[in-house]
Amino acid sequence: MSRKIVVLAGDGVGPEVSAQAVRVLETVSDKANLDLEFEPALLGGAAIDAVGSPLPDETLAACRAASAVFLGAVGGPKWDTVPVEIRPEVGLLGLRKELGLFANLRPVKTIPSLVEASPLKNERLAGVDIVVVRELTGGIYFGKRSRSADEAFDTCEYTVGEIERVCRAAAVLARGRRGRITSIDKFNVLDTSRLWRETASRVFRAEFPDLEVEHLLVDAAAMHLLSRPADFDVMVTENMFGDILTDEASMLAGSMGLLPSASLGDGGPGLYEPIHGSAPDIAGRNAANPCGAILSAALLLRHSCGADDAASAVEAAVDAVLADGIRTRDIAAPGQTAVGTAEFGQAVVERLAL
Ligand code: NAD
Repeated sequence: MSRKIVVLAGDGVGPEVSAQAVRVLETVSDKANLDLEFEPALLGGAAIDAVGSPLPDETLAACRAASAVFLGAVGGPKWDTVPVEIRPEVGLLGLRKELGLFANLRPVKTIPSLVEASPLKNERLAGVDIVVVRELTGGIYFGKRSRSADEAFDTCEYTVGEIERVCRAAAVLARGRRGRITSIDKFNVLDTSRLWRETASRVFRAEFPDLEVEHLLVDAAAMHLLSRPADFDVMVTENMFGDILTDEASMLAGSMGLLPSASLGDGGPGLYEPIHGSAPDIAGRNAANPCGAILSAALLLRHSCGADDAASAVEAAVDAVLADGIRTRDIAAPGQTAVGTAEFGQAVVERLAL
């Protein structure tokens, strides 16, 4: 039976990097008989221009009926002045919420041939292989809020159920990796964090006694991420702490263009996207790095198609391209000739061993 993948190319460099990810998926599908079928749909600025809504009903219906959703990026200066309720990001937040995507996975792995691209000392980066699992549909970004001329508040709320499900998802992931999990909170100050730590401890003790568990305060975690990054395996945390820590962690790899993400719910279609935005400063010039998009396609194969070997083959092909010294502009050494987005994608396809 064929598997439908909805492709939301989006705005800016979104269509350029998505095209390379789809090309890799098409090749993998042919070689490994996965029978993937691709259906384009509109999201973000492209959807506002076409139909006046950042998340058209047809897009949501197509995503709900799909096996997985692939997204390039949304937004850009062209839509900075549209009313706040129809901004491109509203389309993406709405899609995540509607699909119930509560667990956002961001793998951060240093690629040996690229350690020079990171601002950290090379010896700190050896063996870094982390997945940060960020709770994505609760917490302060979704709580009650208010603003007057001289006062404002935002509220952070979590339920036991919301904490349990994301901790379970992270623990299952850790079990398939090095068996270590670090839960991050602000237990010494916040009630939501006290609930988080009690719930996480109970879930890990009762259901995952085989895992090595560590709890860290978010401020300490921010420091340890830079001082001992190779010690971490899976990190799990609430929405806003995860938002901040994942951007910090991305610098371990060196460029925004390198990193993938997966957003997963309870059995429905997952959403896969590079962590970068629409990069309007380089859009339309075949200059974007498609690694994050192509590695997101690998996550799609692993988590939504059960095709672990194909996912590993894609990751190995990206590593091989980089080991061969092929670089897009963002990761090229000074004076080195860079290849374009499409040429990088072609190089990955040529190295796919399946
Ligand atoms: P950005 O990630 O688009 O760009 C930040 C910097 O990284 C820029 O210098 C850009 O050129 C560079 N960069 C990003 N992706 C790259 C790639 N693949 N290859 C090489 N270089 C790359 O962030 P921004 O400039 O803050 O935001 C631009 C727009 O993207 C805004 O409208 C923002 O709202 C939107 N945005 C969308 C998403 C998303 O779709 N998930 C995420 C973040 C930002």
